[in-house]
Amino acid sequence: MTDAKQIDRLKKAFRVASAAWDRSAERTVPGEVACRAGCFGCCVGLFDISIPEAMLVREGVARLSGPDRDDVLRRARRIVEGTADAFPGDAASGLLDPERSEEADDDYFAVVADRACPMLELPSGRCRIYEERPITCRTYGFAWATDGAVFHPPCGLNLPGASAERQLETSIDLGSLDQAEDVAEALALELGLEPDRETTIPHAVLGTAFGSRPG
Ligand code: SF4
Repeated sequence: MTDAKQIDRLKKAFRVASAAWDRSAERTVPGEVACRAGCFGCCVGLFDISIPEAMLVREGVARLSGPDRDDVLRRARRIVEGTADAFPGDAASGLLDPERSEEADDDYFAVVADRACPMLELPSGRCRIYEERPITCRTYGFAWATDGAVFHPPCGLNLPGASAERQLETSIDLGSLDQAEDVAEALALELGLEPDRETTIPHAVLGTAFGSRPG
């Protein structure tokens, strides 16, 4: 579905998100950021991802070694099959329904709030597709802001007791990610994919919308 050049463009675009995280980290002082290798609280609980992010996830899974890939597939299958009834979309294709209600969305993400991402290697806490991880993974930890206001708080382990002003000072401005999102949208269109459709990480691995099932 995607060639190496397209994957490289996506990876390059997504690095904008990683750079935004680094800029926020530079505005902190020792003791404010708990993020470190092996901390994986933000890898428990599913979230929605875009189709280009799903393509990159699949790329990451494709280059895993046999045992890692088998573990990812087994865990993705357990989540997809175990939550199919609550999935607000088509669990087989992996696509969330763009017309789903907010309530159905909230209900589903509450059901999967305790599921570890299949890409998470345990007990090391390592992300097995670090180079191909979605934008949410690259920006989690600091508050997310837009138009000068925070709309999502930082990780509970970071910025302990910080004021709203401090959270804003160290936040990631989602406007700075436009470049990554523009590239992702253009690429989705090039590939004939609907850029506004969404899925989750385990559904990206197994969903028929993203190609044949690996393994
Ligand atoms: S893709 Fe990697 S960083 Fe993102 S939630 Fe999964 S394990 Fe964590």
